[in-house]
Amino acid sequence: MNDSEFQQFVQTFQDRVRDRLSKQAAYETVNYLEGLPRDLLDPLLELSPLSVFVPKAYGGDGGTPARCLALLEATSYESIAVGLMLGISGSLFLDPVAKYGNETVKAHVFKRFLQEKVLGGLMITEPDFGTDALALQTAYQVSDGLCHIQGEKHWGGLTGLADFWLMTARQQKSNGKLARDVDLFICEMAQPGQRIVVESYYHKLGLFLIPYGLNRVDINVPLTSKLNSTSSGLKMMMDLLHRSRLRLSGIGIGFIRRMLDEAVSHCQTRFVSGSRLDEYDQVQHRLSELQAWYTINSGMCAFTARVSSIDSDLSGLGLQANANKAILTDMMQEAAQSLLQLVGAKGYRRDHIAGRAIVDCRPFQIFEGSNDVMYSQIADVFLKAMKRAMEPNLLRFCTTFEPVSKAADHYRDLLDIRIDTEAVQRLRVRMGKIVAWLISIGYVLDLTGQQFRQDLIDNAVAVVRTRIAEQVSGLKQPNPVSLVADYANGSDWKQVL
Ligand SMILES: Cc1cc2nc3c(=O)[nH]c(=O)nc-3n(C[C@H](O)[C@H](O)[C@H](O)COP(=O)(O)OP(=O)(O)OC[C@H]3O[C@@H](n4cnc5c(N)ncnc54)[C@H](O)[C@@H]3O)c2cc1C
Repeated sequence: MNDSEFQQFVQTFQDRVRDRLSKQAAYETVNYLEGLPRDLLDPLLELSPLSVFVPKAYGGDGGTPARCLALLEATSYESIAVGLMLGISGSLFLDPVAKYGNETVKAHVFKRFLQEKVLGGLMITEPDFGTDALALQTAYQVSDGLCHIQGEKHWGGLTGLADFWLMTARQQKSNGKLARDVDLFICEMAQPGQRIVVESYYHKLGLFLIPYGLNRVDINVPLTSKLNSTSSGLKMMMDLLHRSRLRLSGIGIGFIRRMLDEAVSHCQTRFVSGSRLDEYDQVQHRLSELQAWYTINSGMCAFTARVSSIDSDLSGLGLQANANKAILTDMMQEAAQSLLQLVGAKGYRRDHIAGRAIVDCRPFQIFEGSNDVMYSQIADVFLKAMKRAMEPNLLRFCTTFEPVSKAADHYRDLLDIRIDTEAVQRLRVRMGKIVAWLISIGYVLDLTGQQFRQDLIDNAVAVVRTRIAEQVSGLKQPNPVSLVADYANGSDWKQVL
């Protein structure tokens, strides 16, 4: 497809999503435990949106990062759940298969994606191992060219609905212990012995169109279905997770742009106490922040489009990928909260996009790396580098640290402080936020002189200033407060009377 054909393709798909969802508003209000009903799903997949992620050599559109992002944006503008469904199948299944899959298996998998209405997902999380995913207990043993995989997985997006899964497991050694490395296997539900059994579907809070649940894994897959890592499985996992964290930008930009458009249109037409809502200063404040999230997310997309091809090894891009993921998903939640605040009571309904948006985007702050952990890890990397450089002044160090140097120049007054590189975790999380904001606004500064509006760039830089200032002022907390054990003993207000 040339560029104009591709734009038309994306527009047609977006129109189809809007058309289907507006015809049947119940789709977004009924909590389908087993996911999108086929009468919604089939007309969407019939247009072959996932061909965008399939390499050209196998008859797809080539998986160009900018095109994958454009498809996710257009889809998520209409429905974040449908956008996430494409993101799961594309970033968490098709991309890793294209990069690490065995040639013979790839030909079969891609053919099914192009010719049939199939979906794929990734199972990492287990009931006892979520954040601590690398300690997962699903195990495999090899015999006669078959890998026997056993374990329990939950919360895999598209549970019971996906036709293909990437399954993570650790090899069981002859002494019964599990290898440190993690391997990934392609499992095809239509093949004998490969079916993953759904034990129960979860009554999830939002994202009604995507099924989640608890799965029992007891399958046999051929050794050829194992993904081939060039070095270690862990490095391969990092590469795929970092790519996926960056590609969330495509879902984010569609979602945030929708929040912004909804908020602007509401505030331009709603009159309260004799004034149009957008005439109130606090409303302008909310709208301008929403617009800044849109601008920052645009910068993230431009960066992701440049760096996230499957030909690149992203395993070393943790700082950028984690910053992108955490700031993006915090902005998504703030955007949804702001829209609901502005819309007021009529937004507090499942059949209104404002109410839905809050619960639909909330898990983005949890999956693919909990945001608290992301910020903490960003700080660990940054503070380690600071310590190595023996530079306690934040501003001076930032000016030498490439991922934030350009951005730091805009906040010199705020950053001219001394940093304790051994600070407790809550302060490291704050530090992580400062670094993540600097990395993110750096992507916006890269848009300067690139046919992107300068007034939007200037506004985003100003909005981020207040965010950095908040975190900097929080760094001065001298005695961190901890939970008081047995708090109920001696804290009953009625005893004070
Ligand atoms: C809607 C949704 C979709 C999902 N999709 C998928 C999917 O497609 N595939 C898949 O495999 N999984 C998926 N997951 C699972 C998700 O990746 C995990 O929920 C996530 O990794 C967190 O694991 P956990 O829920 O077990 O929380 P835990 O690991 O128990 O962590 C809970 C909280 O504890 C805190 N915490 C944990 N560790 C630390 C630390 N070191 N420092 C400070 N605080 C910490 C954080 O606040 C964290 O949020 C999905 C989850 C949801 C809700």
